[in-house]
Amino acid sequence: MKTNTPSSALVLFSGGQDSATVLAWALARFARVETIGFDYGQSHEVELEARQRLRAGLTDLDADWAGRLGPDHVVDLSGYGALAESALTAEMEIAWREDGLPTTFVPGRNLVFLTVASALAYRRGMRRLAGGMCETDFSGYPDCRRETIDATEQVLTLGLQRDMPIDTPLMQLTKAQTWALADELGGQELVDLIVELSHTCYRGDRGQRHDWGYGCGDCPACELRQRGWHDWRAGK
Ligand code: ZN
Repeated sequence: MKTNTPSSALVLFSGGQDSATVLAWALARFARVETIGFDYGQSHEVELEARQRLRAGLTDLDADWAGRLGPDHVVDLSGYGALAESALTAEMEIAWREDGLPTTFVPGRNLVFLTVASALAYRRGMRRLAGGMCETDFSGYPDCRRETIDATEQVLTLGLQRDMPIDTPLMQLTKAQTWALADELGGQELVDLIVELSHTCYRGDRGQRHDWGYGCGDCPACELRQRGWHDWRAGK
């Protein structure tokens, strides 16, 4: 079924803190919201599970949001994952490379995700894409920068012959500001939901519960999430 709602967005939703916040942001704004996730051979099935629990949690939180949230789509990109091996998709150490990028960098990942998402959005009659890409991340992934997103937006608009804006509400936010945005959108209940259900840890570790959520506590993703949480709490 095509939705063709003028105010509709397809959210790139991985089940992490950032994309969970963006999903809430989109639900607060657009009449119709659907989600897309990618299975590209991540070591962590836990990420894909977190997505379903978060979607259910968000619809419990707010009746309007429940009415706006449409189906989830999981796209199998294991072929891409196989050719783009990194520390996330293979058993490799998380470290910094000589060119300044971490080994968690998966070449072309966001370019592939956005292109696939745009094809689904087109088919579903969704008007725009939204994602948690962020320039302030420690990692500095080049395909998460707004400059890259602007160029991608242009390419998609030309190639689809239809406007395909890409919203990136977290682009300039620190992790502390992302927690603050969740608080603004859905109060403590939303913050609690994201703490409890979203998954960020690169190692897929959900064995330990910290005040900022589950994770190993010392991979770069956990460190970033932890620091953001404490900075936000300290500033409240
Ligand atoms: Zn971790």
